[in-house]
Amino acid sequence: MDKILRIDMGAEGGPRASETALGEYAGLGGRALTSAIISKEVPPLCHPLGEDNKLVIAPGLLSGTIAAMSGRISVGCKSPLTGGIKEANSGGQPSQVLARLGYAAIVLEGRPPDKALYKIFINKDGVEINPDQGLSMLGNYDLVEKMRGQYGDKIACISIGPAGEMKMAAASVACTDMELRPTRHAGRGGVGAVMGAKGVKVIVLDDSDMKMRSPKDPDAFKEANKRWVDGLKKHPVTSEALPSYGTNVLTNIINEAGAYPTNNFSSGRFEGASNISGETMAETETSRGGLATHGCHRGCIIRCSGVYNDKDGKFLTKQPEYETVWAHGGNCGIDNMDAIAMMDRLDDDYGLDTIEMGATIGVAMEAGLAKFGDADAAIDLVKEVGKGTPLGRVLGNGAEVTGRVFAVERVPVVKGQAMPAYDPRAVQGIGVTYATSTMGADHTAGYAIATNILKVGGDVDPLKPEGQVDLSRNLQIATAAVDSAGMCLFIAFAVLDQPETFQALIDMINAFYGMNLTAADIAELGKSVLKTEREFNFRAGLNEKHDRLPEYFKKIPLPPHNIKFQVKDEELDTLFNW
Ligand code: SF4
Repeated sequence: MDKILRIDMGAEGGPRASETALGEYAGLGGRALTSAIISKEVPPLCHPLGEDNKLVIAPGLLSGTIAAMSGRISVGCKSPLTGGIKEANSGGQPSQVLARLGYAAIVLEGRPPDKALYKIFINKDGVEINPDQGLSMLGNYDLVEKMRGQYGDKIACISIGPAGEMKMAAASVACTDMELRPTRHAGRGGVGAVMGAKGVKVIVLDDSDMKMRSPKDPDAFKEANKRWVDGLKKHPVTSEALPSYGTNVLTNIINEAGAYPTNNFSSGRFEGASNISGETMAETETSRGGLATHGCHRGCIIRCSGVYNDKDGKFLTKQPEYETVWAHGGNCGIDNMDAIAMMDRLDDDYGLDTIEMGATIGVAMEAGLAKFGDADAAIDLVKEVGKGTPLGRVLGNGAEVTGRVFAVERVPVVKGQAMPAYDPRAVQGIGVTYATSTMGADHTAGYAIATNILKVGGDVDPLKPEGQVDLSRNLQIATAAVDSAGMCLFIAFAVLDQPETFQALIDMINAFYGMNLTAADIAELGKSVLKTEREFNFRAGLNEKHDRLPEYFKKIPLPPHNIKFQVKDEELDTLFNW
């Protein structure tokens, strides 16, 4: 992983690939690398869909090794949704495969002068780039089947669906899982639209005959990985809750806490929650011959995913995540699990961020385009997006655009990006993260739910403003570092609670690269990533005034706690003081 593959999609005579040394980017991986390249090489004021933007796809520092949980891939660009820097990451196989092919990153640059659509094939022998109009407007599922037919089973795909081709701001980049299904997505911020603007439909990766990456100190690496796995296997969240019920274990927990945004963030409790809970979903999955636990890439030992079959026992989609179940479920007043799973399937096929789409449909329902609770109408709205009708184009550009078009005041976004599945009035720590994250509203940027609600890594009262800025700051720093290592974020539960597990992770990085990093160095890495991203955002025109929640969170109390967001603006402005 000592080189960068640059593909100039706008080169004279057709796209041209070249390899460059890592140079000044040496030692960076995942989010640290995507954000460094975007910050240095992309003009902050460029149009996100223009030729000057770049799409950077980078495995993490430990991807392609035997390290458990090391298969996240980061996708970075200037975001068409937020106008700021973006890193969205995904599970699935591509990270491991790309790392084994020796690339620290693929950088898509320029823009084809025509409307040609390209497929890119990368294996041990090099890179082939070919136009293929036959792929135009294919859903991700049909596309991947076609690639399987052309290149065989031993591949991993990174692709866009019709939403990316239509350059919608809610478009995702899909990654295939172990079964070669396009079920894992770098969802947020419109990264799929940037890939579409580059004219790239799919990147097919084949690491046949390539070896596992080898560490500088194999024995120390193996030993640290063992301690690492042992730590993950003993924490109750990573060893029991997530494998048994997936992330959707949170539905009952967040609903009970009165923080479950219902009917477009108008209440914190949803009556139908038990019909769509992780417990109910797991039962449905197993009774239909699906799976309630499953890993999204080789080397995952938590296995928070699953397989959701339809009523006839036929594969419909992967186990929808908690945020997806909420977005298409309670947020729209829908408690029909099959309808939610269908929308998850459609989102994956069209290549759409499930959080942005669910939040958008909630806003559309508030505007009167459909009634809260009407699952058929919600499915029809998602299909409008896939067809690219004028209404679909509005919806496919996210909650903020939809709110503006239909004059809705309650639009749950920060920096143009929709809020996920936790109301910031009832979990004030996550409100601080939504407001201040360099990414726009993003729960993964600093998952305060862990400490506010699950009491992992300490205990900070979710309903009070005290301590929330410190909590979010520490989590945002740690997350930026985890995203750079290419680790699945769910390791954070064990890392926050068990110092020896955190040490095992540091020992793995040190044994692999022959370094002597300390916990303080890891924190410094996280800080420097955030600093780079924030500086880019300032140069792109975002400032402290954009680090705010929409007004109504401060004015309208949320039932059942009847509480408003109380963290003061001046406190929010101290988040980046360290
Ligand atoms: S824990 Fe879940 S998201 Fe993380 S790598 Fe495993 S299956 Fe993927």
